[in-house]
Amino acid sequence: MLFGWSRAASQLDGQAYDWLFSVNRPENWKPKAMLLAVDEGSLIEIGGARNLRQTLAEALDQVCAAKPLAIAVDLMLSTSEDPKLDAALAASFAKCPSVVLGADIVRDGSQWEEPAPIFRRAAASLGHVHAEPDPVSRQISLEKAVGVKRYWALALEAFRLSKQAGPILETPDDLDVGLTKIPAPRSTARGVYIRYSPSPIPQVTLKELKNNPAASLLFSGKVIFVGYTDQSAARDRLTTPMGQLMTGVEIHANLFETLQQGVFLRDAPVSLPVLLTLAAVAGAGLIFVFLSGSIAWAAAGAWLAFIHFAPQWLYWNDIVLRPAMPLAGIWLATICSASFHYFVIRKQWKKSEADKNRYQQAIHFVTHEMKTPLTAIQGSSEIMSRYKLNEDKQKQIAQMIHSESKRLAGMIQTFLDVERLAEGEIELKRDSFVLSDVLLAALDRARTLAERKEIVVSVGAIPPVQLLGDRELLEYAFYNLLNNAVKYSPEHTGIECNCSIDGAKVRVAIRDQGMGMEPADLKRIFDRFYRSKRAEESGITGTGIGLSIVNEIVSQHEGRIGVESEVGKGSVFTVILPIRVGARLDSEVGNANQRTVTAR
Ligand code: ADP
Repeated sequence: MLFGWSRAASQLDGQAYDWLFSVNRPENWKPKAMLLAVDEGSLIEIGGARNLRQTLAEALDQVCAAKPLAIAVDLMLSTSEDPKLDAALAASFAKCPSVVLGADIVRDGSQWEEPAPIFRRAAASLGHVHAEPDPVSRQISLEKAVGVKRYWALALEAFRLSKQAGPILETPDDLDVGLTKIPAPRSTARGVYIRYSPSPIPQVTLKELKNNPAASLLFSGKVIFVGYTDQSAARDRLTTPMGQLMTGVEIHANLFETLQQGVFLRDAPVSLPVLLTLAAVAGAGLIFVFLSGSIAWAAAGAWLAFIHFAPQWLYWNDIVLRPAMPLAGIWLATICSASFHYFVIRKQWKKSEADKNRYQQAIHFVTHEMKTPLTAIQGSSEIMSRYKLNEDKQKQIAQMIHSESKRLAGMIQTFLDVERLAEGEIELKRDSFVLSDVLLAALDRARTLAERKEIVVSVGAIPPVQLLGDRELLEYAFYNLLNNAVKYSPEHTGIECNCSIDGAKVRVAIRDQGMGMEPADLKRIFDRFYRSKRAEESGITGTGIGLSIVNEIVSQHEGRIGVESEVGKGSVFTVILPIRVGARLDSEVGNANQRTVTAR
């Protein structure tokens, strides 16, 4: 909207008007105006401008004999020259019916330049011939005032006199000339759009008239516009909306034609572009809110086309709408809502892709991670059904089935809980528990695997600090880290688990002597489903989900996780967790009786 009120916009409005004007030329009509042209040839013929007044007097005598309706003279007659010749010209004016003489505003705009008194007395009226400052003559103000002195336009006076109408009646929006109502609001200085005649205004030059007096008959019943059409003498050559250059006198004659034909264009109310802009913007927004895909694009295209068509449709109804504001509005709104729409859709698409990916990985996780306990259960139950076992053996296998299925159920539960935790769907439990409980439970679970690979897991002193949060999830997190340490380490190596207190935090470091990771891997291992190339190639099964879960659990407990690693040497995963407030004292006391638990 701000753009709509700018200078650039008014230039665009002007250009849009010119385009509409050019593509909507009116039907041909027979002009009522006629030019008596002072062209180059005429000036040569009469021996220059100094002989113009005498020649004009003779020409007018001839022309007026043919009974024209009115004569509008667009020549500057402000100076007195030869008194005898001036008197002769004034006498010719007096003999003619309804002569209107031109009055102009001096260059600095301070006063009127009127015809000399001798001519003024002989004329029926004066009319202004002041051209608009706009380089393109789209409109002419029917009224011009300097100080308290005001003149109607030359063409308007010629029109009034040709209609033999009385004084012009003024209302804020119109001028009444006889029976003709001219829409020319005072707010626009009574500006009227000139509807340039589709066919050129016919003209007879002074030279032609001099050489062929019978040509004067052509002026019968016409309104004559007298003026310079000579390139060098015509000081006001202006551009029309069709892009042609035209002399002032022809423009005045065209204004007269506009009045004569009653083909008026009105400016749209000031509120219309504003309302149309609001509607355009709202429409573009609603399209992208309620529609999507190709339907949204098609609707947006149709809406754009409709808004572009509005100025044309209004023009067909003789209304001029300045289109820069609504067009700027519709384009800006369409671009903004289309990009917004595009990015929202993209985001949704990315989310659904991620969901799909997660789902696939979940399946992967279930098939890989859960295979081991399932195989154990299957194998054991098969043994039980096939062979006759003694009671002890049966009991042992049944216990194993029970513990493996419990583990399976626990895994599923943990997996689902963590998924829901990451999605923010479940609230973390807020229990208070001792670090050693969690850590030792995780160590116990990892021990079986470590024993199989003959890996020694040693645990340093565990300070008896209290933590606040979800015990099961934290156990799962530590188990995962220990499990990875075992999984990615060769046989006969060692794993150390060391704890230390750092202010209000406890730090648990799990160090292995395994395959290690490249620096590039370290940046990504906490991403879901990321597995290092080394791990993939080693044949060790995994899903790449564990560390992302650990990371999620630790951050849900307001903790941090870090990793250091060197290829071939091993890795250290460090978890830092806040100690429960109020339990700080216990931990300090607890330090006095540290204990070392070694799992072998
Ligand atoms: P998974 O072990 O199922 O692949 P994780 O999320 O637990 O998934 O681990 C992600 C990746 O981080 C692993 O694939 C592996 O490349 C690397 N990684 C994790 N822990 C270790 C470790 N202790 N030593 C070497 N690499 C590790």
